[in-house]
Amino acid sequence: MRALALAAALTLAAGSLATAAPAPTGLTATNVFRGPALPPVVSLDGGVWMKGDLHIHSRHSKDSSNNPIAKIVALAESAGMDYLCISDHDNHVTGDVAHHTWADPEFHSDKVLLLWCAEWTTHRGHATTISAKPYDHQAFYDVRDARDTVIAAQKKKLGIHFSANHPGTTDAFMFSYDMVDSIEVWNSAIWSRNAISMHIWDGVLKSGRKITGRGGSDSHHGTPDTPEQTTNLSYQAPENNVGTPTTWVYATARTRQAAVDALTNGRVSVSANPYGPRVEFYADRDGDGRMDMMMGDNARPSGKPVTFRVQLTGALVQPAATYSVRVVKDGGTFKTLQISGASPHVDFTDTPAADVRSYYRVEVTGPQTPYPQVPKSAALSGDMVGLSNPIYFNYDPSF
Ligand SMILES: [Zn+2]
Ligand SMILES: [Zn+2]
Repeated sequence: MRALALAAALTLAAGSLATAAPAPTGLTATNVFRGPALPPVVSLDGGVWMKGDLHIHSRHSKDSSNNPIAKIVALAESAGMDYLCISDHDNHVTGDVAHHTWADPEFHSDKVLLLWCAEWTTHRGHATTISAKPYDHQAFYDVRDARDTVIAAQKKKLGIHFSANHPGTTDAFMFSYDMVDSIEVWNSAIWSRNAISMHIWDGVLKSGRKITGRGGSDSHHGTPDTPEQTTNLSYQAPENNVGTPTTWVYATARTRQAAVDALTNGRVSVSANPYGPRVEFYADRDGDGRMDMMMGDNARPSGKPVTFRVQLTGALVQPAATYSVRVVKDGGTFKTLQISGASPHVDFTDTPAADVRSYYRVEVTGPQTPYPQVPKSAALSGDMVGLSNPIYFNYDPSF
């Protein structure tokens, strides 16, 4: 983790946010921010990066019956994962994951923080429910065909993180994004199957919804492994396994709740595997030379040019490797930059409009870092190395 000493800058930023936010005047565009003062940027100091997989099927899913939990946990431990979300299909056990996946004696690790999860598998699409503590999943399963208002109320009552799965596939997510905390924008090692999901994410972001993008391997290793599954559902392939892709969260502490909170808050990036470089994305909002925002943060622009920093942290293929960075602003390509060298980072500047909503995020392509335990996974991801979550300006925090 790269330490960033920002306390003074953050104090200034928080103060100016509280007092300097000008009232919008005369603007009629739908992306004009009209709300009250935005919350201060959360401190970048003292956090911890945690890596994990948020979508895995064990033997408690009927299409993954040769995948015991102990095998999944062993691979996660060997890859140095910090947290894990085993998300079996709830409809395969009639909603009763509490007495199947969670009650399995193998549902245990001394090294990896296991979250309480399930894949909410419905006629209107799939979602992963994520919790730092056990909850009544049966109660959530029972409202799967109800109106969205009923589902949203139950979600709030249970206190779970609700994440849309593979929205751009044939199991498209067809519920309201108003009750969604995150979207699985990178499903399985097979990056190419995510184009529509990425398009949906950008659309949701442009509409003013501040929703985290996350990864999930959706690894099954199904039995029976029919030819149809192999060709059309290649997430069943053994090359797709724990951590392909890996979702990184920047948590305030190494706890389950802090990991889920970081996911909700968008302090998240996704990399092709647990050994690949982690994409970090920061911004210096007030031009004092110190980074005072990171992914997931939302602030008013200071009126000065903002310096953004993209950096890659972790094992690289080789110091001489060159990575390409596509900067996305409000859904479109804003810039394409290069990163290479022993301290791989690149800066760029832009001046976000004073009263208009905008977001910036990055996608990094280049050579893949080998994943020794799952050596063929890199080929499935092509040159997609990692992606960030957005840094936001003028987003309505109540939305
Ligand atoms: Zn699914
Ligand atoms: Zn799944």
